Amino acid sequence: MTDTTTAGRNWAGNISFTAPRLAHPTSIDELADLVRTATSVRAVGSRHTFTALADSADLMVSTEALPAEVTVDENARTASVSGGMRYAEVARALDALGWALGAMASLPHITVAGAIATGTHGSGDAAGSLASAVTALDVVRADGSLVTLRRADADFAGAVVALGALGVVTRVELEVEPSYTMTQVVDRGLPWETALDNLDTVMGSADSVSMFTTWVDPERIDQVWRKARGSLAPPALDGATRAGAPGHPLDGEPAENCTDQTGAPGPWHERLPHFRAEFTPSNGDELQSEYFVPRDRAVDALRAMRSLGPELASLLFVSEIRSIRADDLWLSGAYGRDTIGIHFTWRPDVAGVRTVLPRIEAALAPFDARPHWGKVFTLDAHTLASRWPRFADAADLRRQFDPDRVFRNAQLAAWGM
Ligand SMILES: Cc1cc2nc3c(=O)[nH]c(=O)nc-3n(C[C@H](O)[C@H](O)[C@H](O)COP(=O)(O)OP(=O)(O)OC[C@H]3O[C@@H](n4cnc5c(N)ncnc54)[C@H](O)[C@@H]3O)c2cc1C
Repeated sequence: MTDTTTAGRNWAGNISFTAPRLAHPTSIDELADLVRTATSVRAVGSRHTFTALADSADLMVSTEALPAEVTVDENARTASVSGGMRYAEVARALDALGWALGAMASLPHITVAGAIATGTHGSGDAAGSLASAVTALDVVRADGSLVTLRRADADFAGAVVALGALGVVTRVELEVEPSYTMTQVVDRGLPWETALDNLDTVMGSADSVSMFTTWVDPERIDQVWRKARGSLAPPALDGATRAGAPGHPLDGEPAENCTDQTGAPGPWHERLPHFRAEFTPSNGDELQSEYFVPRDRAVDALRAMRSLGPELASLLFVSEIRSIRADDLWLSGAYGRDTIGIHFTWRPDVAGVRTVLPRIEAALAPFDARPHWGKVFTLDAHTLASRWPRFADAADLRRQFDPDRVFRNAQLAAWGM
């Protein structure tokens, strides 16, 4: 059903979408008709991106009203999932069937198609971006045709992290594994020098490790959140203290919004994300940025950020440092290199944040830092093209898939896409 309401805002409220039409088709045929007859189309997921990436000059289309299905192929160890479903729903359905995902983002509120489109990730030396678990995609193209792309196809690696520029993703196949139990613990006050001298040891000390810092304390990292498979919680990190009570990555925010941190074993999907699906993730009134640097240069990049960091204090809620395994997806932040993500949760001051981002981008330029497509950055099109070796191939694929560039919008144009 096409409705006539305006397209509304993104989750953070910093973007008012200008699309004159927003549609919630309930069948693939209806979606295909809408796409075929529109002059410009963008798909929208749960709106958690901080840019105008989902905006359209004509039609914005949501896939959330399409039938929601999760089925598992036990032999192939893959799950077929509707693209508009949120990870929370998918995870619960998989777990009920005895299956699990290997990685999740900090929040389970996001849609599968929307998350993979921007290269969304969690943390873990062995954990790739969420897109790296994709084995196949169904895409409705500009002419309304539905195509299935598989991992063995030549251009598949250009089609997963595609920023919605190839078409509307209606179904995604994901690698799954048997359900597992996890524990989560939080340590406080890890000495910076311990972390930097032993980055591999710290990041490898659990299946998923996130270090939270405001960069203000010159000696210590505020919190280290660790998630480990099995029933045994990892011991406290050398030089750090096990948190006495549950907390939140943003000090002072309610711990009840977060997943269990007591070290008690529980289902994988109730430990992998930091935030619980029923509650507001993070602060709710914020902006975010993130830059990806190669793992083998990360210590120097973190040292550069430690020099700059204290000057960001008036704008910053908290930074998070995570690890992402290399993948082969052309526009992924972790394309071709094991990666450390350096994330910033900002106060909702758009002008202030845009003033400091170029300083961070300059500090991280020697490390060939790539920005997160779903978060705020100021790098220009020329710089973006230089940071991804397959950037030009992705452009060719967009032209091949969508010759009239129906799925292009102003945000993509600004990034030279
Ligand atoms: C509180 C918070 C926490 C976050 N934590 C993390 C984190 O831990 N790790 C991380 O990497 N990122 C994180 N993010 C960023 C977020 O995961 C990404 O912006 C993600 O892309 C949002 O997914 P969405 O479903 O909201 O998609 P939207 O924001 O609605 O859309 C994102 C992009 O996907 C495209 N898209 C959406 N649906 C489809 C479809 N069906 N077919 C084709 N294209 C589609 C849109 O056109 C757009 O280009 C966080 C964001 C917030 C607000």
